[in-house]
Formats: sequence, C-alpha cells, structure tokens
Amino acid sequence: MTRTKGDPSALRAHNRQTILNHLRQLGPVSRTQLVELTGLSSAAITGITAELIEDQLLTEQSTGEAGISGGRRPIYLGIKYSAHYAVGLKLREDRIEGVLTDLSTHVLAHLVEDLTIHDPLQVAVQIHTLCSKLYRHARIDADHVIGIGIALSGVIDALHGTVVHAPLLGWHDVPLAPLVRKCTGLPTHVDNDVNSLAAAERLFGHGKQTSHFLTVALGRGLGGALVLGGELHRGRQGGAGEFGHNLAVPDGRLCSCGRRGCLEAYVAEPALLAQFQAQHPDLSSSVTTIPALVALAESHPGAAGLLRRAGQLLGTHLSYLVNTINPELIIIAGEGTRLGPLFFDSLRKAVHESAFDCLGDDLPIVIDIWPDDDFTPWARGAASLAVQCAFDFGTLAKGGDMVHR
Ligand SMILES: [Zn+2]
Repeated sequence: MTRTKGDPSALRAHNRQTILNHLRQLGPVSRTQLVELTGLSSAAITGITAELIEDQLLTEQSTGEAGISGGRRPIYLGIKYSAHYAVGLKLREDRIEGVLTDLSTHVLAHLVEDLTIHDPLQVAVQIHTLCSKLYRHARIDADHVIGIGIALSGVIDALHGTVVHAPLLGWHDVPLAPLVRKCTGLPTHVDNDVNSLAAAERLFGHGKQTSHFLTVALGRGLGGALVLGGELHRGRQGGAGEFGHNLAVPDGRLCSCGRRGCLEAYVAEPALLAQFQAQHPDLSSSVTTIPALVALAESHPGAAGLLRRAGQLLGTHLSYLVNTINPELIIIAGEGTRLGPLFFDSLRKAVHESAFDCLGDDLPIVIDIWPDDDFTPWARGAASLAVQCAFDFGTLAKGGDMVHR
C-alpha cells in the first residue's frame, strides 16, 4: 500500500490495517499489547480500536481469568469474523462453484451450478442470481456482504478485474469485475485461481506467519503463486507462477497449452493416468482414476515407478524455484495432493537434494491434503480475494468502488 505523507485518512487506514493484521496473525490481544506491538500511543490505540469496534470489525472479549493481583479481568480485542461475509466463486468451463463465508473464510453455505453459456454478461447475471441463493442458504443479511471474489484459470489483470486470457472459457480481455459489480452493486475482485489459493494461505493458512512462500496447485493442471515480502508477485501481465509450462522434455508430450514437453504434461493428474495407460494397455480399463492408480502403486512396480519419477521431476523443477526465490515455505495444494507418499517422498527428496547449497535445507514442504471431491478450497480462495481487502486496507470497501493493492 502506498501512503501519502501527511494524508490523515491514509495514515488512519494504515494504522487500522496494522492493528487488524496483528490480530489476524496473533489472535486476541489486549490494548496494552497492541501498544507494544504497533508502537502507536495508548491514545491512538484507544481511538482506532473504538472506530474498528463501531465498524463491527473488532469485538471485546474477556479472558475469564482474573489479573495476576486478582484485579479486573483483562479485556482482549479480537476480530469479529462473524459480522461480515464474502462470496467466493470458482469459474470452471462447465460450472460455477460458490461459497458464502465469514471474514475468516469459514464456509457458511455452498452451491454448484452448471455454466452452459460463456457470454460474459450472462455469466455476470448468473453470478448475481447465485449470490442471492447463497445469501438465502446461509440466512444472512445481504447488507453485510463486503464483496465478491472470483477465481479462474488463466492470465488475469487483477488490478482492473479483467480476464486477459482464459482459454477454457474462450475469453480475451473480458472486464469481468466491472460487469459483476454492475449487476450486484458489490466490490468485485478477480484473480487467477492459484493466486487466490495463495491469498487464502497468506491470510489464514500455512503462510500466515510467512513473508516468502510458494503455493503450488497440482491437479488437472499445475501452477504456482509467489508471495514475496508478504505480497503476491504478479509480474508484468499477471502471469507469474506459470511454471507448469516450463519445458521439461524437448519435443515431449502434448500439453494442455498446445505446446510440447511442458512439466504439466508429465505430472498433472490426467498426464499421469494417460502415461500409465499408454505403458500398460492391459490395465487401462481398470485404472481410470487417480485413487485407483495410487492404490495399484502399492503392489505394481510400473505404477510405483511412474509416481516416483513424476514426484522427482516436479521436485527438481521446484528446486529451480527455490534457487530463484529462496522461499521460507512451499505449500502444495489441489486435488493432486492425493498422489500419496511415493510421489511426495520423491518430490521432497528432489527439492532437498537439488536446491543449491543450503537453500533446500530444512525447507518445509507442506502438503495441504484436500478431501476428495471437495470444491470449497478453490471457492474459499476466491472469497479471500474479497476478505483480504479488509486486512490490506484496514477498512471494508464500500459501494461499487474497488480498492487495489
Ligand atoms: Zn504447457
């Protein structure tokens, strides 16, 4: 966030943001602790926290324990996560997956709808209707919804809310956020789906206490998102993190992007199944799902070898990223987290062995295993696009205006 020197409203927003983020990372603390944590004066903390309580962003809580000398019970301040809501939507080629969450991105309602028409205006209208259904399901007051986050695969200009290129939907330069904002009247944020997962990890997930981390989404495809210095790194066109399309094998297997030999064409789930079926045509009719392949690998050397090699290949490519950005943490998420220990043990070994010098030593690699057929992590990631505004700007976006980082 840029702060205008001498602008009292910018300073106030910055101080609110600082307080909210300390509380998000640490949980409830007292006003005295906030003074120590922020370096702000007692008077400033009293004034700003009073404002945040009035805005229903903070709440006072008693710990239930008396002070050391048996005096008054200390009053703690915590974020009032339940007072505001966000909508998160994951757009797929054939369906919209939606959740309604509170400010902690805890899911209160979820819905899936077919997406049969890709005309952007019609999609915006469908999103408007879907939002109303989510409000009804969750039985919440729509006035307390702070915004909508939309996640989809592709290159996204998050600053303007434009879908630069989304091949699955056939979209080029679609101003999705303005269209949805016009239909719903709510602040709307659009981002790449892997960036959305990283936003969720940064706010409330494994990256909560971390400034430099890499989020990898593995499943039907392979993508990454980089959080550097606490901020998502987007690059020139919003395409940073597309390492799934790094060349792994010259003139190799055909990739979903139309080129040959990309890493994704060897380690994504459809690629693993296709490789196994090509190598073992006798088993191709019985091994048609990833759980079947993983189960077979316990007793079938061919399946086990395929998973090990794929894990090693992905781990080797992750080590290139480790050498490039020197992260504190790697988080692996997505449907592909069910690929099992053969895959992930090889991946970890390759990262630790291939990274330069000490860069891979003790580098935590968290496998954030998703339950089978649970779509809500993607949509929760989308909701976090709306929620993060409250923490990044210390305020709730109002009306149709968007605030951007
Ligand atoms: Zn590719």
